Amino acid sequence: MPHTITCIPGDGIGPEIMAAAKVAVSATGVAIEWRDVDAGVDVMERYGTPLPDTVLDSLRETKVGIKGPITTPVGSGFRSVNVALRKALDLYANLRPAVSIPGVKSRYEDLDLVVVRENTEDLYAGIEHMVGSDAAESIKIITRAGSERICRFAFEYARREGRRKVTAVHKANIMKLTDGLFLETARLVAAGYPDIEFEDRIVDNMCMQLVQKPELYDVLVCPNLYGDIVSDLCAGLVGGLGVAPGANIGLDVAVFEPVHGSAPKYAGQDKVNPTALILSAVLMLRHLGERAAADRLFQATKDVIGAGQTVTYDLGGTAGTAAMGEAIAARVCVLTG
Ligand code: NAD
Repeated sequence: MPHTITCIPGDGIGPEIMAAAKVAVSATGVAIEWRDVDAGVDVMERYGTPLPDTVLDSLRETKVGIKGPITTPVGSGFRSVNVALRKALDLYANLRPAVSIPGVKSRYEDLDLVVVRENTEDLYAGIEHMVGSDAAESIKIITRAGSERICRFAFEYARREGRRKVTAVHKANIMKLTDGLFLETARLVAAGYPDIEFEDRIVDNMCMQLVQKPELYDVLVCPNLYGDIVSDLCAGLVGGLGVAPGANIGLDVAVFEPVHGSAPKYAGQDKVNPTALILSAVLMLRHLGERAAADRLFQATKDVIGAGQTVTYDLGGTAGTAAMGEAIAARVCVLTG
């Protein structure tokens, strides 16, 4: 039986990188039936919304999706499609691996970190109001249930992926109730995983340590705001946006997508790097249980980048998006034998 996957190419550079990613994934030989659905600024005129119901319906049905970036319309009254999608499907865990790839210029050469970010609570609950006309207030929500499921997700992920340590990131010394609840819950969950080391770090110290000694860390579990910041910091440690994959995972549905945006200025130019989306597809294949195919696709991507001949401008090359996708596909075929 083929896997049925909802495919949301998105807008801007989305359709180009999605085409390249599909070519690379197809080369693995994993049978996939792609169910393409439209979302983003390009479909607003047709549907009156950047997130038509067909997208959510398809994701609820197929349970797994891969998504290109989507532009957030400025000042139009529409909220971010990305945030709306995560809320509608309760995709509570944001998985952000940061892995060194030989050939990608970066400060460190041998990093393999994963940030697990809580995706639904914290200051991102969006509960804000003015207090008079000269002050504004934003409410930080941390719940025991929200903290427990994200910490459990981090430990389960660590166990499944053979990781050695989980570090909880917080500011419980100052926010004793909210971050205190997150830390207390993390400690309780950790007690159920004696095979995995557990420690905690205050977020400011965490950032300094990540810059100075990132090799000491493995899986980081963070409330929403710290996770947002720390995951970009980690992406920066291994080479930045062009190579940063991600996943948003809920109890029922998982959506795999690159960290970068729709880079509208490069749309339609066959210029940008498809790697972040291809590495998101690697995460998707692992999620589907296709580990051997995922490993081959990851290795092929590393080989093509390491060889440096068919890579995009941001990696110092002159290849286009499609050519890089085809080179990775060809390398997958070689590795498959
Ligand atoms: P961006 O990531 O789109 O682009 C910033 C710059 O990074 C680009 O100009 C380009 O130089 C570089 N870049 C990005 N992706 C690249 C790639 N694959 N290869 C090579 N270079 C790449 O960020 P932005 O300009 O702040 O956002 C543009 C739009 O994307 C906004 O509307 C924003 O809301 C949206 N966005 C969407 C998502 C998402 O869909 N998940 C994420 C972030 C931003």
